[in-house]
Amino acid sequence: MVASRADPRSELSPWHTSTGLYRPWNPLLVEAVLRDYREGAWPVLYLETSAICNACSCVYCDSQVGEADEGELTAKEALDVLRQFSSLGGRLLFICGLGEPLQDPKLFEILAEARKLDIMVSLFTNGVFLSEQNVSRLRECDANLLLKIDSLESETFDRMIGRDGTADRILRNVRRLLESGYQRGSPPGETNLGVSCVATSLNARRIPDLVEFCVRHRLFPVIGELESAGKAKEHYHELALDRVELLALRREVESVLKHPYQRPLCPSVIVGAHVNNRGDCVIDAGSGFPCAWFLLEEPDYVSIGNIREASLERLFRQVCRIRLEKLPDMQPKLAAHAPVFGGGGVAASDWYELYGELTRTKAEKEGLHVRE
Ligand code: SF4
Repeated sequence: MVASRADPRSELSPWHTSTGLYRPWNPLLVEAVLRDYREGAWPVLYLETSAICNACSCVYCDSQVGEADEGELTAKEALDVLRQFSSLGGRLLFICGLGEPLQDPKLFEILAEARKLDIMVSLFTNGVFLSEQNVSRLRECDANLLLKIDSLESETFDRMIGRDGTADRILRNVRRLLESGYQRGSPPGETNLGVSCVATSLNARRIPDLVEFCVRHRLFPVIGELESAGKAKEHYHELALDRVELLALRREVESVLKHPYQRPLCPSVIVGAHVNNRGDCVIDAGSGFPCAWFLLEEPDYVSIGNIREASLERLFRQVCRIRLEKLPDMQPKLAAHAPVFGGGGVAASDWYELYGELTRTKAEKEGLHVRE
């Protein structure tokens, strides 16, 4: 399926999964994306659309959400970002941070434009607004969806999303989505639907049932560990599972799946740029990553420029140069990072090797140097 593991460029493990691979993380697609990156394209963008999210108040929410922020990108500006992205070889768009995208009035314009430009979209949603009409519009745009389902047990799920009665609404919507045949057309071995679940002391007991549901319905399960970030910091010790508990949970999950659990390599972390809802291109000051959550810590986001003042290409180049500067600091950090449900199907040292090789190759091609 992939070339020899001796070649650091092919360190994406071949996968086997009983649920189907979540399409935007299919290692074959990711390999093609990384190849494009080395050859001069900027193929991955992580875009935040709006801070609006007022139907949930999740115990682990890591973002400042509620109403839309002032100065958010307009639809016209967001479409302009997408067109620039496409002209730079853009292939994969991740809308997976900040608020609830289905509450953002400009979302469908963004998705329609992405479809027109042949950019694959992965959209994270809390599922509250998956009405029949929205589902059919999402389908027309061929959006891949990551659905938040922390538990199939309404009471537990309500506690986690901080809103009584909302879990039932989400679960009803998910069932309707599945009955609508949303996955029709997904090639064998792939799925356009994933389920995101944060493992905590509240829901751990019922996660194997959720995974069983995923297997039955071809939903790729994305089990995340609690981040010590955002709201979760207030009750981290009460909610977080310790390593022994996580390992036991992993074993239970694997016995349902009947194969080892693998988290995907999200290309957004290693080659993407992150444009937030106000048009700022942000990176984590410590790691240089555009998506810092995967280190399970509070990111220290800093803006390196705004899309209203700089071209997307210039911002991508800046991101790459900063990553080059951060590489030596990241080695010990990545080597020590070993989450139980963690990602990529590769060891942390392989992550570093691949990430380092990609960053250096790209920087050399672009003539980028570490600042003195
Ligand atoms: S985690 Fe997502 S759904 Fe929950 S409050 Fe935060 S933005 Fe809203």
